[in-house]
Amino acid sequence: MDLLSIQRDYSVIKPKAAPIEDVLRAHMEGHVSRIRQDDKLFQIALLSAGGAISAAEIAFDGEPTFACIRPPGHHASPASCWGFCYFNNMGIALLKLSSEGKIKGAFILDFDAHTGDGTINVLSEYPEIKILNPFSCDRKAYIAEIEERLARIDGVDIIAVSAGFDSYEKDLGKKLKRFDFYLMGRLLKKASKRLCNGRRFAILEGGYYLKDLGKNALAFCQGFE
Ligand SMILES: [Zn+2]
Repeated sequence: MDLLSIQRDYSVIKPKAAPIEDVLRAHMEGHVSRIRQDDKLFQIALLSAGGAISAAEIAFDGEPTFACIRPPGHHASPASCWGFCYFNNMGIALLKLSSEGKIKGAFILDFDAHTGDGTINVLSEYPEIKILNPFSCDRKAYIAEIEERLARIDGVDIIAVSAGFDSYEKDLGKKLKRFDFYLMGRLLKKASKRLCNGRRFAILEGGYYLKDLGKNALAFCQGFE
């Protein structure tokens, strides 16, 4: 936030907590009750989900957004969670737009070092929402894999990104360079202009090499903006 918030062209919006009815589109009541047992955790997880909703709504209205939110969400399934995730921020945000009839199809790129199993599970009954978790081990092949997929998708009303910066070369994924985050941002921007009037948003997932996390997020945003 220190780095993103000083960029002259970016405006910072404070999120509101997600209403429970929005969370319940993605999660079972029992899961929500379990998280609720820790009030501090519950409140911050709702705020994070609210940030994802705001990002999706602002993107739908035409302004690209990056949600700098924690806790992350892509390992949160309808009835369980792991890996520092509690509520599936991405699923909650997209299902809100979908329930309001704003979108039908969507494309999610999840470039975290870990597969977003929670997002896959939450959205399993929505075949019109496509998800790519690239698997290539080599950074050039990884970018090419994304490029190739973007070239053949259609029926997309919004592009959504689970931006996990643990795929960074100095983080536990040991793969991507800072410039690759910029490249992915740019590819997604181009695809969104071609497919869905530029509608695009990204939300923060993993990323544990804190020294460079802000710089990497900024590089992504500079490609994505
Ligand atoms: Zn991760």
